[in-house]
Amino acid sequence: MSAYHRPATLDEALKVLFGTRAPLTVLAGGTDIYPARTARLAWGALEPVDILDLSAIKDLRGIKDCGDYWWIGALTTWSDIIAADLPPLFDCLKSAARDIGGVQIQNRGTIGGNICTASPAGDAIPCLMALDAEIECIDATPFRVPIDRFYTGYRTTILDGEIVTGVRIPKQPGRSVFRKLGARRYLVISIAMVAVVIDTSADGRITHARCAVGACSATAQRLPLLEAALIGRACDPALALPEHFASLTPIDDIRATAAYRREVALTLTRDCLSELAVMPKQEAAHG
Ligand SMILES: Cc1cc2nc3c(=O)[nH]c(=O)nc-3n(C[C@H](O)[C@H](O)[C@H](O)COP(=O)(O)OP(=O)(O)OC[C@H]3O[C@@H](n4cnc5c(N)ncnc54)[C@H](O)[C@@H]3O)c2cc1C
Repeated sequence: MSAYHRPATLDEALKVLFGTRAPLTVLAGGTDIYPARTARLAWGALEPVDILDLSAIKDLRGIKDCGDYWWIGALTTWSDIIAADLPPLFDCLKSAARDIGGVQIQNRGTIGGNICTASPAGDAIPCLMALDAEIECIDATPFRVPIDRFYTGYRTTILDGEIVTGVRIPKQPGRSVFRKLGARRYLVISIAMVAVVIDTSADGRITHARCAVGACSATAQRLPLLEAALIGRACDPALALPEHFASLTPIDDIRATAAYRREVALTLTRDCLSELAVMPKQEAAHG
C-alpha cells in the first residue's frame, strides 16, 4: 500500500522527501503522470509508490518580477501563464501555453511538470531554451542549472529525487514567437516546434538571437549556427538555411518521418522570422 503526502509548504515537502525510504513519485498537476500510470496498469504493471503531491504548496505557484529576472514557480499552470501580464519577450511561452492540450489541461498542467517530464515534444522546453532560462531545484540546498544542461537524454534530466521549485528568466529587451506543427490544429503532440527570440538595434539589425527546436532530437536543441547567422542582419526568413539545422537528429515515427521533421523545423523557423520581422521593437521591461 502506498502513502500519499500533500504538504502545504516546501519545508514539509523536503521532510517527506528526505524522510521516506520508499520510492517516491512527485506529483504536480498529474496530466503527464496519470495517463502514463494508467497505461502501465493497463498492461499489468502494478507499481505502488509513495506520492508526494506538491499541489498545495502556494509558494511554488505564480510569476514574480525579481529585479533583473522573472521567476515562474514550478506549480504555475498554463492558464496562469496565459493570463499573466508579461512583456513581449514572453510571447513564445504564452503561445506555447495556449497550444498545450485544451483548457482543462491548461488549468491543471504546470510548467514544472512539463520541464520534468522531459519529453522531446514538451512545448515549453524550446521556449525556455530561447529565453535562456535557468531551472531552480532543491534537495538539501537550492541550486540552479541552465536549461540546456538540465537534460541528459531522451526523457532524462539531471534530477535524482530533487524538486524543481521554479524557473528564472533573465530580463532582456526583445520579442519572441513560437510555432508548432502537429497532425491537426488543436490537442495534438508536436511533430516539430520552434521558438525564436530576437532583439534589434534602432536601425533594425538583430543584436540578440536565440532559436530552439523541439521534437527533432532526443531533447530540444538550440541552433547556434542560425543564431550566429542572424546577428547584424535585418530580420528576414531567407536567413534560415537547411545547413543551420544539421545538428538536429530527428527520428521516423508514427507522427512523421525524420526528413519531414527537418523540413518542418526549417519552415516553422522561417515563419517565426517572418512574424518577428514585422513586430515592433520592444524595450526591456525592468518593471
Ligand atoms: C490530453 C493531454 C494533452 C496534452 N497536450 C500537451 C501539449 O500539447 N504539449 C505539451 O507539451 N504537453 C501536453 N500534455 C502533457 C502535460 O499536460 C504537460 O506536460 C504538463 O505541463 C505536465 O504538468 P503536470 O503538472 O500535469 O505534471 P505531472 O503529471 O504532475 O508530472 C509530470 C512529471 O514531472 C515530475 N514533476 C512534476 N513537477 C515536479 C517538480 N516540481 N519537481 C520535480 N519533479 C516534478 C513528476 O514526477 C512527473 O514525472 C498533454 C497531456 C494531456 C493529458
